[in-house]
Amino acid sequence: MLEAVSINNVLPLTSSCNLHCVFCSHEQNPPGVRTCYFSPLLLEDLEQLIPFLNGSRKIIVGESSTRLCEGEPLTHPQFLAVLKKIKRQFPETPLQITTNGTLLNKNLLPELKELCGGMPPGRFWDRPFHEVPALELVISLNSSSPSRRSIIMGDNDPQRALEGVRLCGEYGLPFHGSIVAVPHFGGWKDLKETLFFLEEMGALTTRVFLPGYTRFSPREHFFDLSLWRELNDFLQELRVNLEHPVVLEPPLKKDLLARVEGVIRNSPAQQAGLKSGDIIAGVNGEKVLSGAEAFYKIQKEEDPLLEIERPGMGVQNSREEYFLLKLKKRKGQSSGIVIAYDLEAEAIDRIKKEIERKKPENPLLFTSRAAAPLWEAAQRKMLLPQHLRINIVENSFWGGSICCAGLLTVSDFTKHLGELTREKEKPDLIIIPLKPFDHRGLDLMGEHYEKLFTAFPQFSFSFL
Ligand code: SF4
Repeated sequence: MLEAVSINNVLPLTSSCNLHCVFCSHEQNPPGVRTCYFSPLLLEDLEQLIPFLNGSRKIIVGESSTRLCEGEPLTHPQFLAVLKKIKRQFPETPLQITTNGTLLNKNLLPELKELCGGMPPGRFWDRPFHEVPALELVISLNSSSPSRRSIIMGDNDPQRALEGVRLCGEYGLPFHGSIVAVPHFGGWKDLKETLFFLEEMGALTTRVFLPGYTRFSPREHFFDLSLWRELNDFLQELRVNLEHPVVLEPPLKKDLLARVEGVIRNSPAQQAGLKSGDIIAGVNGEKVLSGAEAFYKIQKEEDPLLEIERPGMGVQNSREEYFLLKLKKRKGQSSGIVIAYDLEAEAIDRIKKEIERKKPENPLLFTSRAAAPLWEAAQRKMLLPQHLRINIVENSFWGGSICCAGLLTVSDFTKHLGELTREKEKPDLIIIPLKPFDHRGLDLMGEHYEKLFTAFPQFSFSFL
């Protein structure tokens, strides 16, 4: 718990949940996985954890991080008392609460508003961005159709969440929508209608998640991975008629361009005239290496000056434009720019420096299937040495649609290293991401990465 609080700035409250979603990852863990379920934490225990939160970045409530399985935070019997304790200690820090929406009602919402800098009633998106209170809700709506929400989330009273979303607009509480896309469970029409419903209710952004299934999931959860591309294309078409930014998670990105996916209404970015499709080439006179770098730089700076490339509109004589644009914003304030996450400049730099330091002749980088196109893009951009090989390590332990670094296990690396021993040209340095391991070096099965040193003494490793 201390790890979740002090490293991820996530305050765990409870594993209890009042719903039963078909795609809930907590339900699909194979035996032996070291996840942790916990009853609602006592207020006195939370009082000991809260001081370890970092007040200089957003505090998150209601999301799983580390091995802790977070449920629905609003079911915590002293939810408001907990928030009051956080706010007393960190009055200025933005707070994000992720909820399934069932308990957002007329009793709770005014209290939330009061707690985070009460505002006059009215629709928050009609106000300047800087007036928005320091609290954001992320509402896992998944479907705006009551019958479908009942089916996919096990919600016996789906109208509560739909009304909760409407009330957020009425009480002026900013919220983001979240949808796990399961079109293979009943159609694209519902996904489209849910996105338009969230837009109408005033969602600042909506994240659409590719669902996950593992080899342990029931057969009806299986789908072809081409769904990822289909979802990407489907959202691309819809964006023409949607005003609020809609992003796909994980993004289907094969380059490191800081391409603006969308701009939040009334935000500094919209007021400055930034548009979806613009590419941010530099910030305050410095070139940016990736979308993630551009995002964090802009967030950090006061009134950043952006170098923009705007692609031509595809009409005759319409040319690409280059211009400078100043965003009026405070230090640390959100710019309202939505960019698909890719690679952080520090991560690229760490690998580059390690190769410069150890000077291997045949270095090899292990990556997940999801991140491989991004590392390849970094190499194409000459951000990484050209003699570095990039190998994909498959998530064989979980199987199914899982292809991310965070869920790789020691057994996946062991399998891949076993294959490498049969290769003629052996690497003299293998770089392995630290993402799958906790602060003690353990994977989700509780196995330490040190096992790889003993099992493969012929290789030299760097964990970065
Ligand atoms: S609301 Fe979240 S925690 Fe609860 S069942 Fe659904 S996915 Fe799981």
